[in-house]
Amino acid sequence: MKVIKFGGTSIGTPDLFLRVAEIISGRFKKEFTIVVLSAIGGITDKLINAIEFSSSGNQKYIGILEEIKSIHYVFLSKVIAVNNQHQTKDQLDKLFSELENKLKGVFLLQECSDRISDSIVTFGELLSSTLLVESLKSQGINSEFHNAKKLIRTNSNYGDADVSFSVTNQLLQEWYTGLNQNQIPAVNGFTGSDENGYVTSLGRSGSDFTATIIGGALNASIVEIWTDVDGVLSADPKVVSSAITLNRLSYNEASSLAVLGGKVIHPKTIAPVEKQNVPISILNTFNPKVKGTFIGNADNQNDVEIKTITFLKNLLSISIYETESIYGQKIYARLFGLLAQLEIPIITIIKSANGQSMSIIVQSEFEHLFLEKIKSEFIPEIEKNFIGNINSRNNLSLVSVIGISQNVKSLIVRRIHDVLDNYGIHSLIFLDDPYSLNISFIVDAPEVEKTVNVLHEEFFGESITSVKESKAVNFG
Ligand code: ASP
Ligand code: MG
Repeated sequence: MKVIKFGGTSIGTPDLFLRVAEIISGRFKKEFTIVVLSAIGGITDKLINAIEFSSSGNQKYIGILEEIKSIHYVFLSKVIAVNNQHQTKDQLDKLFSELENKLKGVFLLQECSDRISDSIVTFGELLSSTLLVESLKSQGINSEFHNAKKLIRTNSNYGDADVSFSVTNQLLQEWYTGLNQNQIPAVNGFTGSDENGYVTSLGRSGSDFTATIIGGALNASIVEIWTDVDGVLSADPKVVSSAITLNRLSYNEASSLAVLGGKVIHPKTIAPVEKQNVPISILNTFNPKVKGTFIGNADNQNDVEIKTITFLKNLLSISIYETESIYGQKIYARLFGLLAQLEIPIITIIKSANGQSMSIIVQSEFEHLFLEKIKSEFIPEIEKNFIGNINSRNNLSLVSVIGISQNVKSLIVRRIHDVLDNYGIHSLIFLDDPYSLNISFIVDAPEVEKTVNVLHEEFFGESITSVKESKAVNFG
């Protein structure tokens, strides 16, 4: 049994939608296959937009709702056989009127709770899955929609809910035993529900996660994630035009990549399948013949020196200098308490060995909030001069070299330093964790593109011919 998931761009046009239906039925003929679907590309953003308008009492939400409807009607007319269109339209209209009622309620109250918001933003998946099932049926292929709301149990952290795996795994296993093996089950991605039965969303791009939750619970042979690129690349192709597709990654490399800036997979995706040793394959709907990237247990890990180079932009460092290091532990405890309370994710922390300064790197969007709260939290210490300066430095980037071959790590680290030196790139903080096969360092944001390119040239240079010229163009 396998799980296959298609993202929004993969079903972004009626033609692509039909191609996806073809891939699905082809897969199903070979092996029982569960399908997970995202919303049609752009629909989730439109739903969020509609909520913004309606909750501020702006009637523009009606126009957005109309756009959403007309996009789905166009699909309806092209992906469903004529005889079945009427019946499918009724199903879509039922969903549209539910959606309209919710938005109207939000408009009248001029307020949208996170709970209601989740019940609205997950509509895109309901609509696309309905279309898929009806499209398959109208082609004579047996298929049925199964609402993920009944299968994936989460907490009530609306917007980015956490999955309760013990309950979910049981729900999925029971569900699976009752499935008709001659019928393709289609599940709406991105969606779950809490203990009280309220719909929750799994965070933006969460349909990948849905697929691996199902694949892990049912011990699938593989989870295929169909997207709009050939697989995981050696660097962001928008930055490095000569980036190459990677054949395989370990689970650890894939989750590092997802956290450290690679956008192909959602960061939560790896854990549910890693435990069960279920592999993931990243495939391209636009180029289905390409082998893609295989993510699984470590194997052939020494065939290349490094796997990929990623970056995170828009980072901020906040540094605290103590004058009385004796207070250090207590200050750090309060500082971390503050970060937890404000729900600010920490990118990294660097503490001086003499215990007198600590820098915390977070996303720049938290600058105002974080600085303000730190300053008010530590008023007494600042007044007594136990804390000296609190400095912030904006516009930083974290560059990461991921998947360094075990036996050559120290050599690779030296080469990274040499490359940075040769190109006059100053790394502000270098993070070399001896237990990890990744290296990360902070550079000023304007240096990031150049840094990624010169490192890519160093490690993937043999397969690249034009970087030198493009460097002259890109960086003058
Ligand atoms: N449709 C949702 C989003 O746009 C979930 C997904 O595509 O994975 O974030
Ligand atoms: Mg995606």
